Amino acid sequence: MSLRCSVLAVGTELLLGQIIDTNSSWMGEQLAANGIGSLMQIKVGDNHDRIVAALRYLLGEADAVIICGGLGPTHDDITRQAVAEVMGSELVHDEAVAEVIRQMFLGRNRVMAEINLRQALVPVGATIIPQTRGTAPGLICPVGDKVVYCVPGVPHEMRDMVERAIVPDLKVRSGDPSVIASRVLRTWGDSESGLNERLQPVIDRLEALGNPTLAFLASGWEGLKVRLTAAAANQVEATALLDSWDGEVRSLIGDQVFGTDDDTMESVVLEVLRQRGLTLGVAESVTGGLVSGRLTAIAGASDVLRGGVVSYASEVKFDLLGVTPGPVIRESTAIEMARGVRKVLGADVGLALTGVAGPAEQDGMPVGTLCVGIALADGTTDALTARLPGQRQVMRELSVITALDFLRRRLG
Ligand code: ATP
Repeated sequence: MSLRCSVLAVGTELLLGQIIDTNSSWMGEQLAANGIGSLMQIKVGDNHDRIVAALRYLLGEADAVIICGGLGPTHDDITRQAVAEVMGSELVHDEAVAEVIRQMFLGRNRVMAEINLRQALVPVGATIIPQTRGTAPGLICPVGDKVVYCVPGVPHEMRDMVERAIVPDLKVRSGDPSVIASRVLRTWGDSESGLNERLQPVIDRLEALGNPTLAFLASGWEGLKVRLTAAAANQVEATALLDSWDGEVRSLIGDQVFGTDDDTMESVVLEVLRQRGLTLGVAESVTGGLVSGRLTAIAGASDVLRGGVVSYASEVKFDLLGVTPGPVIRESTAIEMARGVRKVLGADVGLALTGVAGPAEQDGMPVGTLCVGIALADGTTDALTARLPGQRQVMRELSVITALDFLRRRLG
């Protein structure tokens, strides 16, 4: 039987609904992807006795428990005291940890309040997971033949420690020498059910084999992810397995795949433009700057993106971009906006979006209508009309990825 791990999320704000416990769901996903069983997930407030009770309860069933949150320097951060009590250990000052904390403050040119040294208290018998991002180290705490891992609540600090130290430690404890590797194919252009249907032959073969596994993850304007997870004796074999099934998947839905793993639609579009030596100007109505926002979030976008114009009022479309006055939810408007913004911003390529996010229809067009226009330097233009689902914000977000995908395909 595989090793079984539970998760304890600490923080009163989790119980009050002030923050959503995304850490536990992320950890559940990681455990599953690495062949480690998930037994329970519990949330508890910043209360010593209740943390101790919850931890004892979870340790009664599971082989391992990950606690996240409450490792900070303030008086309500009491996870390490609670864990020390469950271990039956004293908390002692660890000078090596203290020195790392001092150096972190020095490196950031900030004065360290003495209170921060509370984070250098370590239960006797625990091993440190060195901190690379925040100031609190993680802890690996043996409790009999079981183990409790403590990680900070801050999501990126938590993720770093789970990936770097906890999953490898759990795998060693489970006596499982195998490697679990996954690859995400990022797709856009079809619904989850549509993709499922097209991939059915591959899904059937994978179900018969049991390895790798294939899963869909609809992720809004991040696209629809198809994740392959392979178990193998070593990394080379895992990669070979993923390569081969990646090819099988692409042979059926290759036209929808825009990237892999950390690729995003905006990073891919910027790269396509960069490789062709083209600059881009964006005119946005319905998305009010969201496209430019996504593009500028990518470091180094400035060599491709000239800028963006939020031509929200119709008069701005007419006066600034030279759109012919009239109804504006039309492909012809999107093309004129794209031509206009290309000229106004001195870009090689113009991309424009106009549409109806709701709540009411506009220019006789229903909520969810999106018109995208593209204008190229040689005078050619192209346009697309899409009907997108969702309430106002969802529709606007889906507009962003739809328009960028249209540009990617047009340039591809
Ligand atoms: P630090 O060492 O930075 O003080 P900590 O271990 O004390 O971290 P908390 O103070 O509990 O962690 O949480 C810090 C922040 O991390 C919270 O304000 C919240 O934004 C986020 N956070 C905490 N727990 C969770 C959780 N379970 N899911 C998502 N976010 C969380």
